[in-house]
Amino acid sequence: MEKRHKIYEGKAKILYETDDPGLVIQYFKDDATAFDGKKKGIIRDKGVVNNKISERLFKELEAAGIRTHMVKRLSDREMLVKRLNIIPIEIIARNIAAGSLAKRIGFDEGTVLPRPIVETYYKSDALGDPLLCDEHVFMLELATPEQLNAMRDTARKVNQVLTDFFAERRIRLVDFKIELGTEYDATNGDLLLGDEICPDTCRLWDMETDEKLDKDRFRRDLGKIEESYAEVARRVCGDDLVAGAQT
Ligand code: C5P
Repeated sequence: MEKRHKIYEGKAKILYETDDPGLVIQYFKDDATAFDGKKKGIIRDKGVVNNKISERLFKELEAAGIRTHMVKRLSDREMLVKRLNIIPIEIIARNIAAGSLAKRIGFDEGTVLPRPIVETYYKSDALGDPLLCDEHVFMLELATPEQLNAMRDTARKVNQVLTDFFAERRIRLVDFKIELGTEYDATNGDLLLGDEICPDTCRLWDMETDEKLDKDRFRRDLGKIEESYAEVARRVCGDDLVAGAQT
């Protein structure tokens, strides 16, 4: 597999072309941003940890019948993935009120929701990723009604699988974001899970203490950021990643 030129650089990852037009290499950076990029920093070894956690979670989801873009992890910071046409909608599933939901609805953070909810946000840095109603999605032609239903169904299934997976590791899955897309040369509309699933994109609380083990430690200056990411990696992947990381 030959790595070719950079095709995209985002806030946490870089995508490189390969000699196969259907495959790209996703490189995980240590850069961290919050509040629409207004807060910037580095979380040491985050790229290594998130790559390994994402690999483990994608494997768990594949085993449950959810298709993902992952082909295989290539190295500490690189994952080989299928090239997707990403639908510009961020799907967020929530089990417990936190973050923007707690603020918008006026719930105390930590309130268990009567049932999981799934929300849609416009993936647009320029607009600050606003919440979208279905009417907005269709007006902007971001997804068809069938695709939107399929995205919500996938989010609910991912939520079930990951809630159980994390609970076995004494972690509460509070909420998470996913992105979906079609394969770049697809002749069908099948949606695959893309991006990454890791402490940058999920809220994860220790089940006994409710201690935050995710990016809120960076957003809210709570300290012990690297330690918390490493703790999630230890529980999810079952080994001490950071000690063995070659950056
Ligand atoms: O900020 P908010 O409460 O809406 O975030 C809900 C969940 O989605 C959190 O786990 C957060 O880390 C994730 N998220 C994300 N990328 C975004 C917005 C939210 O990963 N652009």
